Amino acid sequence: MIAQKFSRTIAFSLFTFFLCVAFFSLASDSIRAQDAADAKDGEKKTEPKTILCSTTQIADFTRQIVGDRCIVKCVLAAGEDPHTYVPGTDDLADCASSDLCLRNGWNLEGNEWMKGMAEGAHKKLVTCIDGVKERELEGAHGAKGMVIKDPHAWFDPANALIYVNNIRDAVCELEPAHAEEFRMRADLYRLQLLALNRWIRESLSRIKENRRILITHHDAFGYFSEKYGFVAESPVGWTTGELTELSLSDRQALVKYIRDRSVPAIFVETSTNQDLLKGIAKEAGITIGEPLYSDAMGPEDSAAETYIGMMRENVLRIVSALAGDEPAK
Ligand SMILES: [Zn+2]
Repeated sequence: MIAQKFSRTIAFSLFTFFLCVAFFSLASDSIRAQDAADAKDGEKKTEPKTILCSTTQIADFTRQIVGDRCIVKCVLAAGEDPHTYVPGTDDLADCASSDLCLRNGWNLEGNEWMKGMAEGAHKKLVTCIDGVKERELEGAHGAKGMVIKDPHAWFDPANALIYVNNIRDAVCELEPAHAEEFRMRADLYRLQLLALNRWIRESLSRIKENRRILITHHDAFGYFSEKYGFVAESPVGWTTGELTELSLSDRQALVKYIRDRSVPAIFVETSTNQDLLKGIAKEAGITIGEPLYSDAMGPEDSAAETYIGMMRENVLRIVSALAGDEPAK
């Protein structure tokens, strides 16, 4: 009797044991499955967003704000001309896989190529120049006499800050979880732009009033010249196009202008054809300054690979070519 009871107790204990093992095994399978699902969700949540920028300047501003939180891609490479650029299939693929598109605007991107790509791929497009005080391009008129707005606004650091604020607002909306961090980075960059502006003024003060004439290939330095007290001249005008030669009368007029004012140097640009100005400098008997960065920054690992670096290198080159030996009065 006792042996029978004992064996029933053993049988019941074994049954309970296997039931528990089965339960815990099922429970741990379920936890593992949940963990795997959570990890997958986590991956989705932390996958960085991609931002596609039209120009190198806008890409740099964006990187300054987002740090490593987003992937920043740029359509234009260093030294490429936004006025004449035509997007290729790689650009269209980059646009299709992006989460946000950023452009300069005011037709810097010739034939609105960035707008066309973003609209074609149904992507949000932010125009970074929005909010900048308009500057009319002298002698440039669009269809039906429409005024053409100067799109090279980033050459005034105060305008660069407007670009930065527009980008900051767009990326905060794109990634609200990192908004505070983006605002803090933008704030630091604002201080750097203020310091840049002070340094530019101080550096350019070495150039005498009568030598403050900035002759460049195309009309990219209007905002810069207005800000820092230069007269800007360019034989090609507001867009770069393929113009490599002037009419005889325009060429003679430019050479006379240079001689009459004793302009010490003129400047070619890194992103445009350099032959035209080299020929004019030769004819006028003056030197060519080191190339200025106009519509694109310098290549990676160069001193001009950032916006601040590009502005610094340009100012150093302008001072070196125009300051002369005598101290400015
Ligand atoms: Zn330009």
